[in-house]
Amino acid sequence: MKSYNVIIIGSGPAGLTAALYNARANLAPLVLTGGGKWGGQLMLTTDVENYPGFPEGILGPDLMKKFRDQAERFGAEILDLEVSAVNFSQRPFSVTAGDKTYQSKAVIIATGAETNWLGLPNEQRLIGHGVSSCAPCDAFFFKDKKVIVVGGGDSAMEEALTLTKFATDVTIIHRRDEFRASKIMLARAKKNAKISFITNTVVVDVLGQDKVIGVKIKNVKDGKEQEMPIDGMFLAIGHSPMTKIFKGQLELDEKGYVKKMIKGNPSTVRQFDKLTAIASSGPSDAYGMMTSVDGVFVAGDVHDYHYKQAVTAAGFGCQAAMEAERWLEAQE
Ligand code: NAP
Repeated sequence: MKSYNVIIIGSGPAGLTAALYNARANLAPLVLTGGGKWGGQLMLTTDVENYPGFPEGILGPDLMKKFRDQAERFGAEILDLEVSAVNFSQRPFSVTAGDKTYQSKAVIIATGAETNWLGLPNEQRLIGHGVSSCAPCDAFFFKDKKVIVVGGGDSAMEEALTLTKFATDVTIIHRRDEFRASKIMLARAKKNAKISFITNTVVVDVLGQDKVIGVKIKNVKDGKEQEMPIDGMFLAIGHSPMTKIFKGQLELDEKGYVKKMIKGNPSTVRQFDKLTAIASSGPSDAYGMMTSVDGVFVAGDVHDYHYKQAVTAAGFGCQAAMEAERWLEAQE
């Protein structure tokens, strides 16, 4: 069984930044990327305009390729495999991916979060036949068509704007009349002549046999239902952390996000900001990115349901990697 200093599970901005830092610290980390799903959420997006260093913007997949190349350049070993099981109850830890089990002294969890679905009767059956959660991936198929986007956050605005490049009509359906989206994104969507809004409304079913032909929507104020003919339904109702394999191994919160535990020397632990777990300045022997298991660290959207940005995920990846390095040194 091959043994490592650090295994990083996940390959979004958090995982690949952790890999870069641990590789440059000569720890020769192994990254298990998630297989076909390597790169995380940015692989499903087009223009990224808010990642610093790219004033003209960059395509999400191009950005992730750069992250990957940079980590590899410094000696990170990257395997496109999905992890099926972990054992954190004995040391070294073991991580199973494909038909192999790998051992490691430390582990960094950066598995991210995945799309939420509405759970409608016909929704799953019609995925790929008019139901989608990724406008950048599927907008092309809705040229001159009518589509809806469900949700009231930044993702809904972004998906709707992307869809206007192809569709004739894009309706955002939101269950409230207030929006979670940032002012700038909401204003951009409102300014676009192809986008209209239906608020205080939920989708109760998606209609169609082989492909979507409409949705049944319900006004939550008066309970009235109506059918709306459309060709496509895009979901933008948030994400769930990818933590199934960690159940029973690590403490998770009620939504399934990995819980961070501030650990280390009690006097320096007190210097941590308990809310955000940001380390105090100067050398520290406390850990802010550690999970309920010593030596298992966490980074990115799998623990962060607040910021969820590529740049914050990368920052968390850096923190987790530096703490893993310091923790490994302390074990010797
Ligand atoms: P989000 O902000 O959590 O918004 C999810 C939306 O879906 C909310 O409006 C929510 O309604 C609605 N929703 C959730 N469950 C629903 C259900 N079962 N039925 C109907 N509606 C439901 O998620 P997000 O839009 O994916 O954004 C996540 C984070 O990424 C945010 O921090 C966002 O700012 C960021 N982001 C930024 C950009 C950008 O800046 N370009 C782009 C995308 C995302 P309620 O409001 O009623 O809860």
